[in-house]
Amino acid sequence: MKKLFHSLAPLAVLAACAFGAQAADYPAKDKVITIVVPFAAGGPTDRVARDLAEAMRKPMGGISIVVDNAAGAGGSIGANKVAKAAADGYTLLVHHIGMATMPTLVRNIPFKVESDFEYLGAINDVPMTIIGKPALPANSYKELAAWIEQNKGKINLGNAGVGSASHLCGLLFQNALKTDMTPVPYKGTGPAMTDLIGGQIDLMCDQTTNTTSQIEAKKVKAYAVTTSKRLTTPALKDLPTLQEAGLKNFQVTIWHGLYAPKGTPADVQKKLNDALKVALKDPDFIKKQEGLGAVVVTDKRMEPAEHKKFVAAEITKWSPIIKAAGVYAD
Ligand code: ASP
Repeated sequence: MKKLFHSLAPLAVLAACAFGAQAADYPAKDKVITIVVPFAAGGPTDRVARDLAEAMRKPMGGISIVVDNAAGAGGSIGANKVAKAAADGYTLLVHHIGMATMPTLVRNIPFKVESDFEYLGAINDVPMTIIGKPALPANSYKELAAWIEQNKGKINLGNAGVGSASHLCGLLFQNALKTDMTPVPYKGTGPAMTDLIGGQIDLMCDQTTNTTSQIEAKKVKAYAVTTSKRLTTPALKDLPTLQEAGLKNFQVTIWHGLYAPKGTPADVQKKLNDALKVALKDPDFIKKQEGLGAVVVTDKRMEPAEHKKFVAAEITKWSPIIKAAGVYAD
């Protein structure tokens, strides 16, 4: 046995050197970093990831950063893809509040949010809006509430699948109104938005990063925001909060974070976090995000350990709310 250890020792040293060299050379000029987005192209998570990829490119030494939309199952297909990817810093995940709500909303997800990822930091906070198809007769939240009451059992509600943010918001909305709507799942709220504009679905609750430009262009009707305060973005500033519209304690804010597979070398994580922090201070990135109602993170959640603590706190916060509302699914 002793002999075997002796013969393996040089191999272990070699492996450690190779691994160390890889981390020191990171990011290699001939490689590409892929950010996996667990929803369809053209939606809000996709939007954040593409803007972030652009802003991180320079601080990552000019390397190509591309987006891979691994959409489906409310965001769990993409997250699982990253959980199982090589931990070399070339596959990353941008995901939203689903990292914290999915473990309670969906009972059987194929990965562990707390132990299958390295947390690289938070990106932004994004309000949600309640929006409707253009042909809806309601022109205010009050009229929408009356229309929902009159059309009980006939209304459908688009979402990005079980476990997504639009699923969570839609379930809380139905729960608060004590009404059931028919869910229509999509691979992301980008394609759901196309159908809402086309009138194939009636309502949706979605991030302002997807809805602001459609509200501005009057392609959809907007009724309320899910934050506790009204927003200042010009196209959204006249919308009431759901709380002031009478839905007590209704408050949902979506946040996004950046993750790598568990086991990504510490110095690679540090390079990625440094680049993330540069991106979060990039005036172009901030301007794009603010124009869509999002607030770029400037607080301690930029730090991986703080973001991890924040996600753990969000799991603790949302779990009883979801369970009490009885809104989870298998
Ligand atoms: N907004 C979506 C959600 O409901 C996801 C997306 O398409 O970005 O989770």
